Amino acid sequence: MSKTNVAILGLGIMGSGMAKRLLSANFPLAAYNRNREKCIPFGAAGAFIASSPREAASRSQIVLSMVGDDAASREIWLGENGALQGASRDSILIESSTLSPDWIAELASKASERGCSFLDAPVTGTKPHAASGELVFLVGGSPETLDAARPVFSVLGRDVLHLGPVGSGAAMKLINNFVCGVQAASFAEALSMIDAGGLDRTTAISILTGGAPGSGIVKRIADRVATNDFSPNFALHWMAKDLSYALRNAAGQGIPLQTAAAALAVFQQAIAAGHGDEDFSAVSKTSIGRSSAGRSNS
Ligand code: NAP
Repeated sequence: MSKTNVAILGLGIMGSGMAKRLLSANFPLAAYNRNREKCIPFGAAGAFIASSPREAASRSQIVLSMVGDDAASREIWLGENGALQGASRDSILIESSTLSPDWIAELASKASERGCSFLDAPVTGTKPHAASGELVFLVGGSPETLDAARPVFSVLGRDVLHLGPVGSGAAMKLINNFVCGVQAASFAEALSMIDAGGLDRTTAISILTGGAPGSGIVKRIADRVATNDFSPNFALHWMAKDLSYALRNAAGQGIPLQTAAAALAVFQQAIAAGHGDEDFSAVSKTSIGRSSAGRSNS
């Protein structure tokens, strides 16, 4: 049986891993990225390189976007030569970027006007999970559309969790990442206290990671601090974006997300110190308190 034609829009850290998985599983793939240079290896590996999201979508039954933020997603779907203009009526449109539920609702309504099915399907997992097909998809949308998209999800992920109607996946993903962001910021503050108190860093970090505070996210950051490697798996500026979307979404529900607001301030300090393009774990380099110059781990 011939496989469904799939388009991937966005070949960044996550989209590139996902595109490679689909090519390895022999899906006919159309790929689009704003910066054309990132397309070159995918063309060499057999993907059709589209000149626009519209062209990629026009060749595909399933169109998946994996871009940065709401503005990028709007550009990809609704911009000049955007994917929605090329999408055929029976196609399935999937938005896997971490975005605001407000924008997802608007996008889903545009997709429906076009006669397309729509899923929001953000992911948990990071660069290695995208490359190895071990993402977890948090899906909002109809069960029928999800079932039709399962052959693609099964190549990209180890699990597909249906959260409810359109927007449920986006809402859950922001809750997930706000809890991660708060822990990351508190770990940065803990390091400041460790240093200010003259405690041995290695011992102090091992107490934290070996005890109750030793969550997956805290352990991941501790590993990065130990190796002094902050090359991005998940860029710090995207974590700040997720915290700000979570704050806005919660505010719309009448919930003042005080811990997210405090965490966002720590992330903004890290961005101001020049760490925005590094891995989110580089938030640990931020000096909280008396010095605002940024802590060096080297
Ligand atoms: P990334 O490496 O920074 O890639 C971002 C992608 O978005 C690139 O393809 C970029 O194109 C594109 N883009 C940005 N602005 C655009 C615009 N205005 N028009 C068209 N394309 C635009 O980010 P990533 O790490 O792959 O993350 C992608 C999404 O997944 C984000 O929403 C992120 O929060 C989420 N996410 C990431 C991880 C992770 O661990 N990395 C995990 C879960 C979820 P160019 O190459 O041309 O700049």
